Amino acid sequence: MRLIALLLLCLGSVAPAQAVEFELESVDQVVYLHGAWRFRAGDDPRWADPDYNHGPWDNILVPRDWRRQGHDELTGFAWYRATVQIGGLDGGRRDLAHPLSISLGKVHSAYELYLGGKLVGSAGRFPPDPLPLSDRYRLFSIPPEAIDDDGKLLVAVRVWRHPALGESSTSGLYEGKFFIGPGFELTKQVWFGEAFALMLAISYLGFGIYHLYLYARNPRLPELLWFGLIACLVSVYTLEMSQWKHVVGWLQAIPYVLHKKIEYGVIYLLPALGIELLCCLLRVQPPTWARVYQAWFVLISLVAVLVPGYDILAYSLFYWQLSVVPGLFATLVLVVWFAARGNLEARTMTVGWALFLFCALNDIVVAQGAVQHPRLLSFGFAAILITMAISLANRFTRMYSHLDGEVQRRTKELERTNEKLVEAARLDILTGLLNRRGFADKVEQEIARSGRSGRGFVVMMGDLDRFKACNDQHGHACGDFVLQQVAELLRGQLRDVDTLARWGGEEFIFLLPETTLEGGETLAEKLRTTLECTLFSYENNVLSMTMTIGVAAFSTGMRLEDCVARADAALYAGKQAGRNRVVVDGDETMELAGEVPSSA
Ligand code: GH3
Ligand code: MG
Ligand code: MG
Repeated sequence: MRLIALLLLCLGSVAPAQAVEFELESVDQVVYLHGAWRFRAGDDPRWADPDYNHGPWDNILVPRDWRRQGHDELTGFAWYRATVQIGGLDGGRRDLAHPLSISLGKVHSAYELYLGGKLVGSAGRFPPDPLPLSDRYRLFSIPPEAIDDDGKLLVAVRVWRHPALGESSTSGLYEGKFFIGPGFELTKQVWFGEAFALMLAISYLGFGIYHLYLYARNPRLPELLWFGLIACLVSVYTLEMSQWKHVVGWLQAIPYVLHKKIEYGVIYLLPALGIELLCCLLRVQPPTWARVYQAWFVLISLVAVLVPGYDILAYSLFYWQLSVVPGLFATLVLVVWFAARGNLEARTMTVGWALFLFCALNDIVVAQGAVQHPRLLSFGFAAILITMAISLANRFTRMYSHLDGEVQRRTKELERTNEKLVEAARLDILTGLLNRRGFADKVEQEIARSGRSGRGFVVMMGDLDRFKACNDQHGHACGDFVLQQVAELLRGQLRDVDTLARWGGEEFIFLLPETTLEGGETLAEKLRTTLECTLFSYENNVLSMTMTIGVAAFSTGMRLEDCVARADAALYAGKQAGRNRVVVDGDETMELAGEVPSSA
């Protein structure tokens, strides 16, 4: 037995069995084909053959750009090969393998897949009519006959890379998920991620449209416009980066090259919009160099979209990547600088912007094939979105408190103005005394007070004698002057508690609280004589004035009008009796004058 084993071992070393790159324990298992494959530049149909010995070929990591693995300049055809050992095929029953599928991630630019030497599918097209299809995930079911009796499956991928790509773009089996397992499991894994991408794209679109709507309502806030546009474009980018364009009918109907142009056009344009948004948020006018920088991105975006064909995308990507990196750092420095100087918007944005930059740089490095990592730009935008929301919320809170303070200040101002207006409405402009309305208010208060105390008050009505003659002789201005002087003089003779008002024309009315009729009469007499003895000089004229005063007492139960009417009647009687005198309500002077006021 030992001898036979030794013999077999020797035979094995003479004709070594194909090395196994990946192993599947059973047909229920999912195994990533990530790791070392075999690789060879060139093209030979024999390389699809399972019996071909790829032992001497180079090792190459999948998924990873071949440029980073010693084949920087390689374009055209190259082959990948790997052997997968499938276990659990009971007694070599290959029919058990029927649910198995193989999923290929992104391959630049087109490929054919051979399983067990047979062509099972492809993505994109080779020359002479090439169609690069560099980002399509594909799922291929594995025909059981592709697996040999030992449960080995030879996977060979014939890849073609577009010669226009040069060093600027990815190549080969460069990104995404390459795995083998039950078809249903693979579908689930791929589409779980795609469903998330779709959800992101829809959310961004919703945010974008909502902000554009807000801008339409508030054209004074341009940040809403730029944010809305960016959100819509990122939504398009997220969708373009997903697999949906390969499976949804109407998206599939769009030529693939156009999809690529949209994707590149959007991503090329974003830095220009980003600068605009940033400047709006920081409230700075973009300097000329920033304008030139923005124009460059608009230009490269237009060129990528408008120049027909796929090649322009491959050529332009390098220049875009080269120009975007300094901008990313410059904007971060700008935001940090503003944050350090106390700009509240910048403080909030620093976090979001830094995360966004990290994601953008990640994607650039991934696109360069330098590292193998998921693309993050869509998530980076989510960071911006969240900080933007926080920033807007902060701004609204500040605006709200500012408005609140402003409303309170204005309300106080209005209240003061209103008080002044009310006061002004109660005053006589010429003399500064209360007017008829002001007097009525005072009397109302006094009536209420006297109702409580039971003590009455006196109302007196005084009218300047022959005032019309004064106007006629010395002019209206002189009449005004005399009115002011008389008002001042009368006011000076009264107690603080007394009220003097201009009733109208040259008539004055007095309210004397807690005063008897006799007290009123005495005061009226004092006022009359004081006025009589006073000389007024106006310009070159010296003149004197007299006043007739009617006095009436207010007693509980009376109405104000009644009391005023009584004082007025007494005044009238005084005028009738020859003027320049005091007449008290109920005097015989009144009877002589024939005035008998109706009693309350
Ligand atoms: P009497 O002794 O009967 O009261 O005679 P009178 O001239 O004072 O009375 P009359 O009612 O005939 O005239 C009042 C005058 O007062 C007429 C009007 O031109 C004048 N007058 C009323 N208001 C003002 C005012 O605000 N300024 C001036 N300058 N004159 C006024
Ligand atoms: Mg009068
Ligand atoms: Mg008069």
